[in-house]
Amino acid sequence: MPDVFADLVGQDEAVDTLRRAAASAAAVLRAAHGPGPAPDDLDGYGPAVDPGAGMTHAWIFTGPPGSGRSVAARAFAAALQCVHGTGCGECPGCHTTMTGTHADVRLVVPEGLSIGVSEMRALVLRAASTPSGGRWQIVIVSDADRLTEAAGNALLKAVEEPPPRTVFLLCAPSTHPDDVSVTIRSRCRVVPLRQPPASAVAEVLVRRDGIAPDVAQWAAAAAQGHVGRARRLARDPEARQRRDAVLAVPRRLTGVGTALDAASALIEAAEAEAEASVAEADAAERAALQTALGAGGTGRGAAGAMRGAAGQLKDLEKRQKSRATRAQRDALDRALVDLAGFYRDALTMALRAPVAPVHTDTAAMAEAGAQKWAAEGALRRLEAVLECRTAIEANVKPRIAVEAMMLALWKG
Ligand SMILES: [Zn+2]
Repeated sequence: MPDVFADLVGQDEAVDTLRRAAASAAAVLRAAHGPGPAPDDLDGYGPAVDPGAGMTHAWIFTGPPGSGRSVAARAFAAALQCVHGTGCGECPGCHTTMTGTHADVRLVVPEGLSIGVSEMRALVLRAASTPSGGRWQIVIVSDADRLTEAAGNALLKAVEEPPPRTVFLLCAPSTHPDDVSVTIRSRCRVVPLRQPPASAVAEVLVRRDGIAPDVAQWAAAAAQGHVGRARRLARDPEARQRRDAVLAVPRRLTGVGTALDAASALIEAAEAEAEASVAEADAAERAALQTALGAGGTGRGAAGAMRGAAGQLKDLEKRQKSRATRAQRDALDRALVDLAGFYRDALTMALRAPVAPVHTDTAAMAEAGAQKWAAEGALRRLEAVLECRTAIEANVKPRIAVEAMMLALWKG
């Protein structure tokens, strides 16, 4: 039976750190309760956590998208809640944490562009309560870089003076001040995750998802170390079609008109993908809210209830719109990463660098590009794609950024 760290692909160093910290956390609990496993209904707290022993109250998991930041945070949470203190994968503590039903583990997933202050305050408050299972209260913030400034401040207060049994696990692309404030960073222990090698990603697709080895290898390379993306490419024909359409772009750029057409196509494809990805959740949430409001009736107070209902509906629509915007950006970013991979292939081929191509299925086209553009031309095009990503991240309107990129890709 694989333990809770089994899905952390190619991250041996990080796993080692987390295992040791979990063991030291278990020792803290044992010291508090005496020998034997901790009973479930403890009152009072044990001694504060000793950071020197490898365990601390606040952690940041950093790494590129898809490297497994939230997978690592959840596995560590499970190891902390594990009755054996190891993350065995079998006990109720491990099992409920991994399936998202543990009463003392809360996961914050920002659905829109940022996590709001009221959400964060409520969370911090609940995280200060005594763990119902007698071990730890754990809060996982899956995208700490998407906290609003006010929400970040609410979190900072809790991280600065953590309740004795509370652990915060934050995930962010990096510890750059743009992602995580310097003060929060200074209170946290950092666990850096690497972009896993394609061979390690392929191995997990074969072992865990039962994907054929040749498909797994192709998908792992094409996904550039992003485990979730590799799984989707291996399993979902629509994801493969979208990727094919993106990788056909370089061939189609023959003039201003085709460049602008390609920009429109890319934006619209991202919108369609995003809409498909949120449509089901949107409909389910609307139905649930309508059912809840439908119980209102017509008696005294019904008018007030109606006004409240309109407000709730408006709130829901606002949240859904924000989630759709995020999904669109994510879809567009995936397309840009694929495109960057193509120009990177052309660049490495022009330089005759001994590295495997990202996209084996467009290697011939990249080789043709390498001949035509030489290394300088390939590099300028790669930079155009990366600049487009940066611009969108800095809130430039996606259509404007993508049109500028397509023109640069055509002109070179
Ligand atoms: Zn366990």
